[in-house]
Amino acid sequence: MKTLHGIPVSPGVVIGSAFVLDDERMRIPRRPIRKGEVGRELDRLDEAVEASKRELVRLRDMTEVSLGAEASTVFAFHLGVLADPAVLEPIRRRIRESRVSAEHAVSEEFRALAERFESMADSAFRMKVNDIWDIDRRVLRHLIGEHRSRLDTLDHPAVIIAHDLTPSQTAAFDRTKIVGLATEAGGQTSHVSIIARAMGIPAVVGAQGVLSNTVDGDEVIVDGSHGGVILRPDEQTRERYAGRIEAIRRFRRSLADSAAEPAVTTDGVAVELLGNIEFPRELDTVLEFGGAGVGLFRTEFLYLNRDDEPGEDEQYEVYRSCVERLAGRPLVIRTMDLGSDKQHGEHWRRERNPALGCRSIRYCLQNLPMFKRQLRAILRASASGPVKVMFPLVTTIHELRQAKMVVRDVMDDLAEEGAEFDSHLPMGVMVEAPSAAIIASIFAREADFLSIGTNDLVQYTLAVDRTNERVASLYTAAHPAIHRLIKDVVRAARRRQTPVSICGEAAGDIEFTLLLLGLGLRSLSMTPTLIPHVKRIVRSVDIKACERAARKVGSFESERQVSAFLRDLTRTIIPEAFDGRAVDER
Ligand code: PEP
Ligand code: MG
Repeated sequence: MKTLHGIPVSPGVVIGSAFVLDDERMRIPRRPIRKGEVGRELDRLDEAVEASKRELVRLRDMTEVSLGAEASTVFAFHLGVLADPAVLEPIRRRIRESRVSAEHAVSEEFRALAERFESMADSAFRMKVNDIWDIDRRVLRHLIGEHRSRLDTLDHPAVIIAHDLTPSQTAAFDRTKIVGLATEAGGQTSHVSIIARAMGIPAVVGAQGVLSNTVDGDEVIVDGSHGGVILRPDEQTRERYAGRIEAIRRFRRSLADSAAEPAVTTDGVAVELLGNIEFPRELDTVLEFGGAGVGLFRTEFLYLNRDDEPGEDEQYEVYRSCVERLAGRPLVIRTMDLGSDKQHGEHWRRERNPALGCRSIRYCLQNLPMFKRQLRAILRASASGPVKVMFPLVTTIHELRQAKMVVRDVMDDLAEEGAEFDSHLPMGVMVEAPSAAIIASIFAREADFLSIGTNDLVQYTLAVDRTNERVASLYTAAHPAIHRLIKDVVRAARRRQTPVSICGEAAGDIEFTLLLLGLGLRSLSMTPTLIPHVKRIVRSVDIKACERAARKVGSFESERQVSAFLRDLTRTIIPEAFDGRAVDER
């Protein structure tokens, strides 16, 4: 028996037989060509690139339908690479000038590109190296014929062991055959991790040595909740994990039954549990998992993966259909939050420090015609049911005042045109920068509601890039600074009787449920699949106990103490809570 440790990226436990995927990189020997053959090789290259693009468009669309936008963006990136003259021209030049076959030129140029990416200081590029190899392999497959991946030969349920997996490999995953995953490379936000979570496959990444210590057919336990990979377990260990698997199964089954139950604490305090969505089709999940409405509609999807801007009517149709599907339940629409990690289109100016740059409400206020189009669409949709609008990354009171003024302008225009809309449309502020949290009492005076966005609040308060795996261990909402900010925001809002909610990932993390209730939050918006888990905690506690927990957390000095205390406490209420956690798709 050998136990390795990695990063737990997709919860759950599985015991299975190993299927080892070694490096499948293709090596292409140099094949010189005659001058007269150059044209033919260039044509072969173009055909292979076009065929690869057609495949990628299919893959992108299929992945988006089955696993959501985040999982599919990687293929949009692959398409972008294959449309980039800076990538294709050197390959053509090599064929022309060095007189080599198309496949040799492709493999040499992609190798050089991968090496350039690998040596970049920016981790975002280094993370893309695996993608570059993936694109290389796809084009080569079209040039030299079918290269069957070993994965295609898998004909029985197995735990995949690999150094890393390419997006193409993960997109072709067959859930009935792949029951677990352990890789040596990767982090929380790697593509393979996102896919594993979206598919509910227990997975551990960053498990150093897993490849060299495993052979095909070895029995493997993957503990995706805690990060353990146990190779060739002994009898006792196998039995222990089999018991945990059964407990998880029981827990998940019991959760499914609770969708219709009210989210009320044992002492009768009602808690509003809402869903965060990025696409209208996720509304079905919100309703299926018992959500009381939508607390955050991220509207960026309307703007991404296209060159033009979405028109007012197109947006209106999307918002109106959501309002109608919700049938009277609330819908909080966040105005577009582009910039930083969500840039779009080629016209987007590169900034040296995009997270601190012209993003979110700043971008909207500098691009009023676009902002007004979105507001018109939102307001028109508000005639069909309860809609609220929310502004992202507000850091000064002037931004809120300006944004409200723009809304009122748009209302005047619509009224003049005789269009219907809710003239009392509630306008809220996302509290996701420390400045906003610190002056929350000022915002609470002028906004109709506040919503705490812990994803960015953690990033900006702790000065930790939320997308950088090298500092991922520092990124946590358990930091005492975050606790203090949330506490102050809730207190400021309550003093003004301004409704306050929370919509960052912490809202759906059961580690924090007791604390958030104890701090006074009564409205939590989260990834829809997590609603039953949080509801289970809500229905198992009383507010006094939560308040005691919050006070205790207030006395801690470090995030480790906070985390350990909250986890232990949650486990005393529901022992299998963390093992049974559902799939978080973000
Ligand atoms: C947040 O920052 O907490 C949030 C909910 O918004 P996003 O994750 O879209 O930045
Ligand atoms: Mg945010």
